[in-house]
Amino acid sequence: MKTTTEHPLLSRAEKLCEQRNVRLTPQRLEVLRLMSQENGAISAYDLLDLLRQSEPQAKPTTIYRALDFLLEQGFVHRVESTNSFVLCHHFSELSHASVFFICDRCGQVTEQIAQGIDEILQHMASSDDFTLSHNVVEAHGFCPKCSEVKACQYPNVCTHDHKVIKNTKSLSL
Ligand SMILES: [Zn+2]
Ligand SMILES: [Zn+2]
Repeated sequence: MKTTTEHPLLSRAEKLCEQRNVRLTPQRLEVLRLMSQENGAISAYDLLDLLRQSEPQAKPTTIYRALDFLLEQGFVHRVESTNSFVLCHHFSELSHASVFFICDRCGQVTEQIAQGIDEILQHMASSDDFTLSHNVVEAHGFCPKCSEVKACQYPNVCTHDHKVIKNTKSLSL
């Protein structure tokens, strides 16, 4: 198994785990490393496929346990509307409210810190006597590349990749 920490966020995660006195096992680190190579979110299903290249015996529970740990530590986020997971680029800043922009064509997810959004939702909830526990803000549309492909008039002759690539199946345990 690789222990290289080529993505700067990986060494930051290692340090944080040391400080928090929690174990970032080689397997958890490998799952985080695989996620750091994704341009956006990845489903547990695809993650298992990738992990099996280095650990053929990996099971769905292996992935879900690693993801639970990574979610708990705030290193990754769950993207609810596409049933997938994405590396957080801001995990050193304790808790933060984010908005996720999700490309409906290629699955790319960009996270933006949404300052003040918690207060807005809290305010809206309280005016309805609603007790808010947690919130998810996910916006759908097309990433720059996919907007370009969508607008493309010559699908048969252009160099765009016109096929849609995304697998958001859930793993069955
Ligand atoms: Zn985040
Ligand atoms: Zn896209």
